[in-house]
Amino acid sequence: MGRLATESAFQILARANELEAQGKSVIHLEIGQPDFKTPKNIIEAAYKAMNEGKTGYGPTPGAVQLREAIAEYSASYKKVNTGIDEIVVTPGGKPVMFFTMLMLCQEGDEVIYPNPGFPIYESVINFSGAKPVPMPLLEKNNFRVDLAQLKKDINDKTRLIIINNPGNPTGGMFSADDIRAIADMVRGKNIYILSDEIYDRIIFGEQPLSIASLPGMKDQTIILDGFSKTYAMTGWRLGYGIMNRELAGHMSMLMVNSASCAATMTQWAAIEALKGPQDAAAEMTAAFKERRDYLVGALNNIKGVSCAKPEGAFYVFPNISSFGLLSKQFADRLLEEGGVAAAGGTAFGSFGEGFLRLSYANSLPNLKIAVERIAAFCAGL
Ligand code: PLP
Repeated sequence: MGRLATESAFQILARANELEAQGKSVIHLEIGQPDFKTPKNIIEAAYKAMNEGKTGYGPTPGAVQLREAIAEYSASYKKVNTGIDEIVVTPGGKPVMFFTMLMLCQEGDEVIYPNPGFPIYESVINFSGAKPVPMPLLEKNNFRVDLAQLKKDINDKTRLIIINNPGNPTGGMFSADDIRAIADMVRGKNIYILSDEIYDRIIFGEQPLSIASLPGMKDQTIILDGFSKTYAMTGWRLGYGIMNRELAGHMSMLMVNSASCAATMTQWAAIEALKGPQDAAAEMTAAFKERRDYLVGALNNIKGVSCAKPEGAFYVFPNISSFGLLSKQFADRLLEEGGVAAAGGTAFGSFGEGFLRLSYANSLPNLKIAVERIAAFCAGL
């Protein structure tokens, strides 16, 4: 248990809630969940499923109808053709990370993971006993992979490489050429890719290339995706993995030994999410884009702060190193003294030092107040 770490954003939220209970005003920019409600057609579909009696256990890898809908979606959006026996539906996308590590990694293996990156990657690599090898995502490289460094880091012990496109916490995106180059480095070797595509619909420019769509790569890739972000369904707990048939069998075994199956009515709601109107998802992305444009401009106007323009997800990752504080100290003081809850960059790994992650899953008026508070806080440092 000592090898597991946590997601600091939840601890920051708890502290922010304490301050609010004491009567202080806090703007929440710490948590990575859309501030929108789940679209009505999806809620209606869950309600209908429950009324029809779809309230019992379902097949461990997921309802056939949902896996068919995922296969159709994967072929049309990701350009990845898959059979339904290559899909495992899980309670959230997160278990796909955990199960992948349990299936593939053990002591003696090395796993290359994005740093800064989603904190659970490093945590579960450590839990498996494998050695975490950071893939530094640096501001000077627009938070993209350094291909020369990656090539050096791949060796006989490398078992898995994790990519997250667009990425949490930076909003950065690997180019199609980056993805092709990574595929060329691993194709035909005993190395898997965990491709975390949970934000691949929340994009403001070109669609990211799924590595599994490249020749020969599908069998070496585990795609992680889900409904939390695109359809504002974080609390419904529904995600899925796409992988080769053998791995899907192993992942189903892990599912039957842990959750049995994802919630049945949630799966029927997810079918509606994929097959019903996509307007709500598109509107959310448009709102995120407007907020991104505002926030990047406003943060760059604060003396001492510089902020790259993210291409997807709903985070900005401004550089606050000029103030001479560790990013955790900066974030703690910004919350206590400035009334803005945000995560320090090191909550996402050592290469996040000098940065702050702000989630813009909050309204434009609240973002404006947050910027005023951040500017006042910075001016006082
Ligand atoms: N992957 C990344 C990069 C994330 O940021 C998150 C959630 O914050 C997840 C996966 C998991 O999301 P969920 O388990 O809600 O599907």
